[in-house]
Amino acid sequence: MTLHTPTAPLSTGQADQSACVPASLGSPVAARQPALRTRVAPILGLEHSGTTLLARMLGTHPDAVAIGGLKNFASFVQHRKRCSCGGDPDSCAFWLPVLDHLRKDALDPAELATALSGRRTAAVPARQAAGQLIAAIAAASGAAVIVDASRDPEWSQLLRPLAGIEVVPVHIFKSPLAQAASAKRKERSVYGELAKYISRSRACRAETRRATAAVTLAHEDLCATPGPLIARIMDRLGLDPDPRQVADWGSRPLHMLGGNRMRRSTSSDIQSDRGWSGILSPLEITLVRIAGGAAYAANQRQSQR
Ligand SMILES: [Zn+2]
Repeated sequence: MTLHTPTAPLSTGQADQSACVPASLGSPVAARQPALRTRVAPILGLEHSGTTLLARMLGTHPDAVAIGGLKNFASFVQHRKRCSCGGDPDSCAFWLPVLDHLRKDALDPAELATALSGRRTAAVPARQAAGQLIAAIAAASGAAVIVDASRDPEWSQLLRPLAGIEVVPVHIFKSPLAQAASAKRKERSVYGELAKYISRSRACRAETRRATAAVTLAHEDLCATPGPLIARIMDRLGLDPDPRQVADWGSRPLHMLGGNRMRRSTSSDIQSDRGWSGILSPLEITLVRIAGGAAYAANQRQSQR
């Protein structure tokens, strides 16, 4: 399986100036990366913004795999979270070979998990651990594209400087009203969600601008015209789209770490938002429109590039 070169113009902003191993990491890290580039597609956005749906659709491609979130690796290895298949580190048909691959390379999954958890205070060992984990996933699965649904751009930033890995961030967003309504349904604060929407949107736009190739899309557009949008993303990922990504994404065995309840669904129906007018109060609608409008417009502008 070989990746083709994306035909679309590189989407957003500057070329990545740091697409090499940082000097501080030295050659051992570079040596552990796969010889051919593995493409990683970090799905950026917020909880309930369509990230799990998109990860599943992308991961349905025969040359791709959706792993859930790297951010959940530590909880999985420490037996605090299970894989979406119900398995644990000793039984999951996908993750057990990945962990065995690490051990064969004399790497301890528990130590990698600890390094990932310490990413905010010790970025270099976390970056090294992330690279080693991605290399093991690529080797054990044979996938050319790894889809990570950690959502927070910090995970994309962790991977981007590594040799042997090309990061193609995919930012998916809802309108602030739809996002606030999703939060209220889950009994979360509407205003807390709005603040998060503004700050996360800004961080996602910055991350997609920094990457060499990236895609930004609206959840409502994915629901309305999934075929062309999946084709556009797959082109950026160097693969031809597979019809099953739109028609039959629900039936593929899934080994995602974390994700919302729809990770367990076996239906391939795409559910668009049920609307927000009956969920939010008139005051909430007015405030969310005013405060979230600029972030939404900026997201939309980026999606049209
Ligand atoms: Zn599993």
